[in-house]
Amino acid sequence: MGDLLILNELTQCIRALHRVGHSPATSTNYSCRDGNGKIWITRSGIDKSLMQYEDFIEISPEGTPLPPFETIPPSAETGIHCAIYHMFPDTQVILHSHDIHALVQTVGLSRKVFEGYELQKAFRGVITHEGEISIPIIPNSQDMNDIKNALLERQSELNYGVFMIEKHGYYTWGNSIFEAKRLLEAFSYLCRAEVLLNR
Ligand SMILES: [Zn+2]
Repeated sequence: MGDLLILNELTQCIRALHRVGHSPATSTNYSCRDGNGKIWITRSGIDKSLMQYEDFIEISPEGTPLPPFETIPPSAETGIHCAIYHMFPDTQVILHSHDIHALVQTVGLSRKVFEGYELQKAFRGVITHEGEISIPIIPNSQDMNDIKNALLERQSELNYGVFMIEKHGYYTWGNSIFEAKRLLEAFSYLCRAEVLLNR
C-alpha cells in the first residue's frame, strides 16, 4: 500500500463531502499523489458514504491500473485526473463534485463569472472581493479525450484550480487535501449564493 496517511485523510474528506450532497448515487471520483509520487484514484461504482481507503487503486500517469489492481476498473473519469496532474505538476489532490447548485449554473454557458463575493478570496491569487473570477465550463462527454482536449485548449483559464462540466459538476485540485477542499467548499458556496440570489 502507498502512503496510508493521505489515503485515510482523503477517505474521511470524501465521506464528509458525501454528507453534504457532493456525490449522490455512487457518482464522483477522487485522487491523490502520495509521498512516493504514486497516483491513487477511487475505483468505479463506490458508494461514497461507505468509502474506505481500500477503495483506492494505484494507476500509472496514463491512467492504467497497476499491479495488483489490473483487473479493477478505475473511475470512468480517470483521464481527467491524469490530464490535471500532467498540466499542473504541483497537484497533490483532485476532488470532484456533482453539487446540484453548481450544475444548474452550467446550462448553455461556456463560463461562469462571480463578482464581488468575499469568498472569492478562497481562490489562488485572489486577495479582495472586488473584481470578477471567471470559471470555464466545458461540454460534457463520455469520451475523456474530448474533455482532455477542451482542458488543454483552455489551460490559461484554469489558474483558480476549478472548472465545470456542463450539466455534470466541477473539479477542484490543489497541493494538499486542505487546499483542494477549500476550493471545492468555496466554489459550492458561491454557486449556492448565485442560486439563492437569482431565484
Ligand atoms: Zn462526474
